[in-house]
Amino acid sequence: MKKHNFSAGPCVLPKEVFQKSSDAILNFNKLNLSLIEISHRSKDFVAVMNKTISLVKELLNVPNGYSVLFLQGGASLQFCMIPYNFLTKKGKATYVETGTWAKKAAKEAKLFGNTEIIASSANNNFNYIPKNYIVDENSDYLHLTSNNTIFGTQIKEFPSIKTPIICDMSSDIFSKKIDVSKFGLIYAGAQKNMGPAGTTLIIIRDDLLGRVNREIPTMLNYQTHIDKESMFNTPPVFSIYASMLTLEWLKKNGGIDWIEKVNNKKASMMYQEIDRNSLFYGTAKTEDRSTMNATFLLTQASLKSEFELACKDEGINGINGHRSVGGYRASMYNALSKESVEKLIEIMQKLEKKYT
Ligand code: PMP
Repeated sequence: MKKHNFSAGPCVLPKEVFQKSSDAILNFNKLNLSLIEISHRSKDFVAVMNKTISLVKELLNVPNGYSVLFLQGGASLQFCMIPYNFLTKKGKATYVETGTWAKKAAKEAKLFGNTEIIASSANNNFNYIPKNYIVDENSDYLHLTSNNTIFGTQIKEFPSIKTPIICDMSSDIFSKKIDVSKFGLIYAGAQKNMGPAGTTLIIIRDDLLGRVNREIPTMLNYQTHIDKESMFNTPPVFSIYASMLTLEWLKKNGGIDWIEKVNNKKASMMYQEIDRNSLFYGTAKTEDRSTMNATFLLTQASLKSEFELACKDEGINGINGHRSVGGYRASMYNALSKESVEKLIEIMQKLEKKYT
């Protein structure tokens, strides 16, 4: 049976990425060696790293003066690397608390210095994006989470401020156009729109480094990885290779302009049904709804097992909400097809027909 994978991450990737990365595990570049048994310093792998970096720069139109890194430790390690590298003794780290991941990021910053949460949507279970906050000019950076994977909200417009913006884009990078020049640092775990878990993409404005006085452990210092071009130690070769394939797929199909249209279409189909169907309702404020993760609930709890069984019977995978919030979450990352969204909508409509 065809599966429709709405998983929140790790998640669906293009079929050809699965195929080509499997081929490379068995025989990479016709070397009769596996991708995962050759040296990361071999010319074949160095070419992969360079290609992946150049695809990131091309697809996101990264301006001069920024470095692109592939590190390990997930987006979660960035929560501490950011304050370690940027929070000064006299300065301050400013956070907007829009969900679980934003909270975790702010918690780490408190270990390193003065931290302020200038806005939060905790009062309404993170179902909206706070706006109109004022960022203190003495702040070393403003930290934002562009897409709140668990609560299904997304920042539609980033503030125009002098303070460098550091943004966790783990769950919407490569899904829509962004102006990289607005950011001091962008980070994203690979395992949504880019590839398998194992590497984290960092896009960093070089001139922001060197402003803190503290000693930074070598591995946690961005400068180390810039100087060594993400090869200070052994990089996660498989994750980077599969990310390269995913970015090639994106470029070949029309890049960010293309995928943004596809994503908007899928999201509008999904939300139209959530709003129209009398058995379901959305949890995020309409203007802040995420194009990547649609969160919704049943109006009648008694239909839970029937809905879930129907989903299972039709090959729908991964629509349960995060364990901390329950309900449902349809994650519609880049590689999820329109047909999968149509299938889920069909199941919702059948249920409605039966009970109304
Ligand atoms: N930030 C966001 C927005 C996320 O969705 C996630 C994971 N789902 C993380 C951070 C944590 O990422 P990782 O597991 O790579 O540490």
